[in-house]
Amino acid sequence: MGIAADVKAALVAAVGIANAREDADARLQYGTDALLRGAPADLVLIPGTVEEIAAIARLCHTHGVPLVVRGAGTGYTGGAVPVRGGVLLSMERFDRILEIDEENLLAVVQPNVLTGELQDAVESRGLFYPPDPASLKKSALGGNVAECAGGPRAVKYGTTRRYVMALQAVLPTGEIIRTGSKAVKNVVGYDLTQLLVGSEGTLAILTEITLRLIPKPPVAATLQATFVDVGAAVRGVTALLAARVVPATIELVDAGSLQAVERHLKRSVAPAGTGAMLLIEVDGVPGGVAEEVALVDEACQSAGALAVQRAATEAEREALWEARRALSYALRASAPRKINHDVSVPRGRVPQLFELLARLEREHRLWIPAFGHAGDGNIHVNLMVNPDDGDEMTRADRAAQELFEGVVALEGSISGEHGIGFAKAKYLSLELAPEVIALMRRVKAAFDPNGILNPGKIWE
Ligand SMILES: Cc1cc2nc3c(=O)[nH]c(=O)nc-3n(C[C@H](O)[C@H](O)[C@H](O)COP(=O)(O)OP(=O)(O)OC[C@H]3O[C@@H](n4cnc5c(N)ncnc54)[C@H](O)[C@@H]3O)c2cc1C
Repeated sequence: MGIAADVKAALVAAVGIANAREDADARLQYGTDALLRGAPADLVLIPGTVEEIAAIARLCHTHGVPLVVRGAGTGYTGGAVPVRGGVLLSMERFDRILEIDEENLLAVVQPNVLTGELQDAVESRGLFYPPDPASLKKSALGGNVAECAGGPRAVKYGTTRRYVMALQAVLPTGEIIRTGSKAVKNVVGYDLTQLLVGSEGTLAILTEITLRLIPKPPVAATLQATFVDVGAAVRGVTALLAARVVPATIELVDAGSLQAVERHLKRSVAPAGTGAMLLIEVDGVPGGVAEEVALVDEACQSAGALAVQRAATEAEREALWEARRALSYALRASAPRKINHDVSVPRGRVPQLFELLARLEREHRLWIPAFGHAGDGNIHVNLMVNPDDGDEMTRADRAAQELFEGVVALEGSISGEHGIGFAKAKYLSLELAPEVIALMRRVKAAFDPNGILNPGKIWE
């Protein structure tokens, strides 16, 4: 349908012609995220101030123009894709760390500061921002907050949610609001800060984020435990939990994922004969770390580990993490299409989840490599398919449906990290009751009465 010429002129005027793009390449490029199922916006705007964003929101609200916010575009569920066209608002100019407050253990950032950039900045001062999505070198903090990103360290430190103290945001109706505060304790009114965390760009445009920091743990040890197969590795996870160790990370990599990453990196990651591995990191004070390393070693050995090795140098540690972070890219290079589902189950039910995956592979004749955050029950399940093979795509569709039904039956969730976007919208009702979805829609309407902000997502 497009945007009426006079409205478009006003939108462009709001940011200045130098910060508006209308060429076909930009419209599609900005309209595509890591899901790789993009749609072109009608107009790309790159604002530089909060007031400009408020003016854009008011115009879109008044004239019923869809408005979609884009952070770094690494989302996996099409959250930043303008499925109904309209304005694509790129936050790329909001890329400054405004404050690192060492006394109050917090940082104030603009939303398009990259996750890894903040981590480097605070770690150089002995502070720590734990959430560590594997995309941390490319994803932005605004996108992390909007998706409530998690990562390997969530098992000990929690996800993004735990670190968001306050927000500045622009409502779809154009008001600029502030939620939360810099105080650790704040119980005044509804917790709108936490409502906006994980709202997938459907309730408000985040323009400033205040994040809690913690002291950087002085020592960390990284261990690689290898196993004959995924069943043994999962037993290793169970043994760790039973030993009451809380490592900072417990990442599991199955055989298929391991082979893919070795091909991708052109080097060996684990000794020959490894059928699955765990990447475990413990951190804290030196005495505590030494004790936990011993407990981890014992637990993995009791589960039948082939070997448990501690990274001896920072270079060895980085090489292990490089392999972990490369998994998504490695699998993507291993088949014409990788359909990635980040399901999550109560941590003690990871064994049942892997039994389910083995059944789905067998019954649907699919390759389904899996890896992920075994310590908190969040596993990335990858359906490897050829989109030109209709029969295989039908089998993958059935497998996805059964996967989601299975995790809900295990009292888990269809998404632990990546959100719903448009890619998972059709599965939402497997997990949420109709009255819960109706309530969420009423919340959405309270923020966005004309339904202009990121339409076509979550429910539709
Ligand atoms: C290789 C790879 C590995 C990944 N690993 C992980 C992982 O370990 N854990 C994990 O959680 N995710 C992971 N992801 C997914 C992705 O990186 C996260 O969802 C990330 O938080 C998205 O951030 P972004 O800045 O790229 O957001 P985008 O993709 O740009 O946007 C994501 C959503 O956030 C909204 N949004 C963005 N900025 C704002 C804002 N300022 N205000 C309001 N809404 C906004 C968008 O509208 C959209 O709905 C991975 C992705 C890749 C490609």
